[in-house]
Amino acid sequence: MKIAMIGTGYVGLVSGVCLSDFGHEVVCVDNNPDKLALLRDGKTPIFEPGLDVLMAKNTSAGRLSFTDNLDEATDGADAVFIAVGTPSRRGDGHADLTFVFNAVKDVAKSLKRPTVVVTKSTVPVGTNQQVAKLLKEQRPDLDCDVVSNPEFLREGAAIDDFMHPDRVVIGANTERGANVLQEIYRPLSLRDYPVLTTDLETAEMIKYAANAFLATKVTFINEIAMLCEKTGADVKEVAMGMGFDSRIGPKFLQAGPGYGGSCFPKDTKALARIGQDHAAPLQIVETVIKVNEEVKRLMVEKIIDLCEEKLRGKTIAVLGLTFKPDTDDMRDAPSLTVVPTLVGHGADVRVVDPQAFREAEELLPNVTWCDDPYAAVDGAHAVIMLTEWNEFRALDLKEMASRMAAPRMADLRNMYSCDLAIDAGFEAYVAMGRRGHL
Ligand code: NAD
Repeated sequence: MKIAMIGTGYVGLVSGVCLSDFGHEVVCVDNNPDKLALLRDGKTPIFEPGLDVLMAKNTSAGRLSFTDNLDEATDGADAVFIAVGTPSRRGDGHADLTFVFNAVKDVAKSLKRPTVVVTKSTVPVGTNQQVAKLLKEQRPDLDCDVVSNPEFLREGAAIDDFMHPDRVVIGANTERGANVLQEIYRPLSLRDYPVLTTDLETAEMIKYAANAFLATKVTFINEIAMLCEKTGADVKEVAMGMGFDSRIGPKFLQAGPGYGGSCFPKDTKALARIGQDHAAPLQIVETVIKVNEEVKRLMVEKIIDLCEEKLRGKTIAVLGLTFKPDTDDMRDAPSLTVVPTLVGHGADVRVVDPQAFREAEELLPNVTWCDDPYAAVDGAHAVIMLTEWNEFRALDLKEMASRMAAPRMADLRNMYSCDLAIDAGFEAYVAMGRRGHL
C-alpha cells in the first residue's frame, strides 16, 4: 500500500516508520522546515527509543521518505493519514481542531483521485463527519472515504506499542474505507492482534474513554496515597494488593506527582467539554481533572514542608523534568508546575534530565542545568525526585547525602524508601503515600 502521513510528531513519525516496516511505501509530510531538515538528514526530531534505527532501516530500503510537498506525497496514495496535534483550545478546554482542518483542506487540494483520508489525531466525537463534509465541500468532484483510526501508543514505548498493540481501532462508515485500513493493518491481524471495526463516532469515543479511564486510575491511586499518608498505610503495598486482582490489574497504579503529558490533561478536558456540550456531564472525569490539579499543588506543599517552610536562598536539585521517563516530551509535565513555583519562592533550582534540555530550556528559565545528579545535589538543601528515569533509580544515596548542605529528599515517584534514605544519612524524607521522616 502507498501511504501519506501528515505530521511527523510523536504519533505521525512512529506510525509512519512502523507502517513502512510492515512493507508499505510511506511518505511522511511535515510543514515544519526544521523537523524536515533533521528527518532528511536521517535524524529523529524527537527522542523515542529505537526510532532512529528503524527509521534508518526503512529509509535505506526505499520504503520511507520525507517531504513538505503534499502533491508528491498524496500522488497515488491508497490512504492519507492525518496525525497533527489537537491541543487544548486556550480558555475552554475544547480540542483545538485548527491543525486537523487545515491539514484536511491542504490534502483536499492535493488529491487527484478518490482516496481514503484517515484521522489518526485524537478528535472529539463528530469530527470525522465534519472532515467528510469539509472534503466534500472542497472537492465535490471526488468521492473520498473518511476513516477514524485513533492511536494508543505510549511515548517511551511507542514502537513496541505500535508493533504489538492491545488492539487497533478502525472507525468507518464505508466498506471501502474499512477494507483499505484492514489491508494496511493486515500484518497485525495476521498475528492475531485484535482489529476492531466500528462506526466513526464509536472509534472517536473509544480513544477518549480509554484515556479518561487511565487518567482516572492514576488519580484514584494518588488520592488513596494522600489518605495513606494520613492513616499510616503504604500506598505501594496497597497498589500491589489491589493490582493482583485481575479485575483491576497492576498498571497505572503508581502514585506520583499527578498525571501530565501530551494526552491525559488535554483529552480529559476535551471529553469533559464534549459531555457538557451534549448535556451529559461526565462528573467523574470533571472530578479527576480537579483532583489532578490538587495533587500537583500538594507536591509543592510537600517540598515546602521538607524545606521547613523556607525556600528563599535554598538550593534545590530536581531530578527529572519530562512527564515520564524515556521521552523528551515536556507537554503538561508536573515539573512545569513544581519548578517555577520553587523559583518563584526564591529557591536556587538545579535541574537534571537525560533528554529534556531541548524542550525544557525555554520553558524553565532561571534554573541551572547540571549533567549528573551528584553535581546537582552538591551543597543543595533538598533533592526532589520528579521523573523515574532509570538513571535515577539506583543512586548512591550515601554519596548524595554526604554532598548535600542539608540532606533532604522528596521522593515523589516512590523510588526509594524512608529506611533507605535515613540509613544513607538523609535527615528528612517524604514520599507519595508512604511513611516519611521530617
Ligand atoms: P506533535 O505536536 O508531536 O506532532 C504534530 C506534527 O504535525 C508536528 O510535527 C507539526 O509540525 C505537524 N503539522 C501540523 N500541521 C501540519 C500540516 N498542515 N501539514 C503537515 N504537518 C503538520 O503531536 P503528537 O504528539 O504526535 O500528537 C498527534 C495526535 O495524536 C494528537 O491528536 C494526539 O492527541 C494524538 N496522540 C498522541 C499520543 C502521544 O503520545 N503523543 C498518543 C496517542 C495519540
